Amino acid sequence: MKLSLAAAVLVFATPVVNSFAFQHHSFHTGALSGPKSSAIFAEIDEAGVGDTTKSKTKKDQRRAMMAKESYFKNGFKQVRDEVASSMVTEYSSDTVKDLKESEYVLERGDVTVHLAKDFGFCWGVERSIAMAYEARSHFPTKKLHITNELIHNPEVNDKLGEMGVEFIPKEGGEGGGKDFGGVGDGDVVILPAFGASIEEMAYFDSKNVQVVDTTCPWVSKVWNTVDLHQRKGLTSIIHGKHAHEETIATVSFCEEYVCVKDFEEAEYVADFIVNGGDKAEFLAKFSKATSKNFDPDTMLSKIGLANQTTMYKEETRAIGKLLQKAMLSKYGPINPKEHYMEFDTICDATQERQDAIHDLITKKDDLQLDFILVIGGWDSSNTQHLLEIPVNAGLRAFHINRGECIGADNRITHRKLNGEIVTEEFLGEGKVKLGVTSGASTPDRAVQDSLDRLFMLKKVMA
Ligand code: SF4
Repeated sequence: MKLSLAAAVLVFATPVVNSFAFQHHSFHTGALSGPKSSAIFAEIDEAGVGDTTKSKTKKDQRRAMMAKESYFKNGFKQVRDEVASSMVTEYSSDTVKDLKESEYVLERGDVTVHLAKDFGFCWGVERSIAMAYEARSHFPTKKLHITNELIHNPEVNDKLGEMGVEFIPKEGGEGGGKDFGGVGDGDVVILPAFGASIEEMAYFDSKNVQVVDTTCPWVSKVWNTVDLHQRKGLTSIIHGKHAHEETIATVSFCEEYVCVKDFEEAEYVADFIVNGGDKAEFLAKFSKATSKNFDPDTMLSKIGLANQTTMYKEETRAIGKLLQKAMLSKYGPINPKEHYMEFDTICDATQERQDAIHDLITKKDDLQLDFILVIGGWDSSNTQHLLEIPVNAGLRAFHINRGECIGADNRITHRKLNGEIVTEEFLGEGKVKLGVTSGASTPDRAVQDSLDRLFMLKKVMA
């Protein structure tokens, strides 16, 4: 399909993928029983194809690898029911069920809990875990590896470890990178929900291994977006954390890119676009966040914005406006689309969880909330952003990664916005009212464990 630049921009200005009915996949009804994942891949791939001015891109290479018989991207149907039932046993929660059935409010003794309306496991995470479990059942005697944590949740990763799935060491390989030495002939390699780089995929493609790809389709959508940039000769500006696994995979599909982690870095880039600047300073500032041989003097005249799926939505929007304004200011309004292309790639699950905690916080005075408890892996980007919202609203908030963070001595260990892990005094005397949310990779069982500890602590204190 060939499209003119203007037509391609129109296609991408329409949130084709956002409109998909990505219904929440409850494992109560089977982890992959909603939209057929093969259909989703096909639709997203279609949405991602623009003008094919470059005959072969990294996306084409990826598709060629995915077409092989040793590559599994849709799970294993014959063990699906069995897996769905073990996921219910391991990850569901009666307390969360009670909360949902009582309008998201629960009172136990001196504690009142208000649960955000959207929280916890997203469709992509449930799908990824289900596919990993299915792989274990489908290949009972094979050695299984994961190229990284499957998702950013300690309980889920511990469970996979107990099932005999080995995590490829992050260090110790050639050049100090991952150590693939333990992956042998005939083994099975699982790619996590946030994907794997094209280099890793090519490595496994060259070996005698089978690959089970659990990459979330929303992540593939970002890859399709940067692929379009590449075909159009645009430099990708990626709003994301350059060291995050998803972004590492995303940049591997780009020829020319800069990663900006926040609005401040985007402002620096925008200013460079409009006014120019010190190239050496630019390259030093983004030394780990640009493509090889990046030249800001020549490579910022045509740009496209994409983002890590789990970034803070408000910030991504502000960055989009900022870059658009910079390009207008530099190149004038004659044909802005020649110079700038934007497509929101934040996933629905991330948006919904951010919106839900926003909603809860707007009612903080009416509900008399003392604090917000955010539950999710400390490395989980989407969970970190859920903490930003109450903190920015001036509310006391704690990000814990599991129930054990709440100690019997009334101390809580939590991660602050700056990444520091601290332990401090937790509850005061008397009644307590809190808001609760959890990240997209957090099972309901972790919410239950955390609340049970809090209820028990308050009972003991009373
Ligand atoms: S948070 Fe979004 S991108 Fe990440 S796994 Fe879930 S649905 Fe996919």
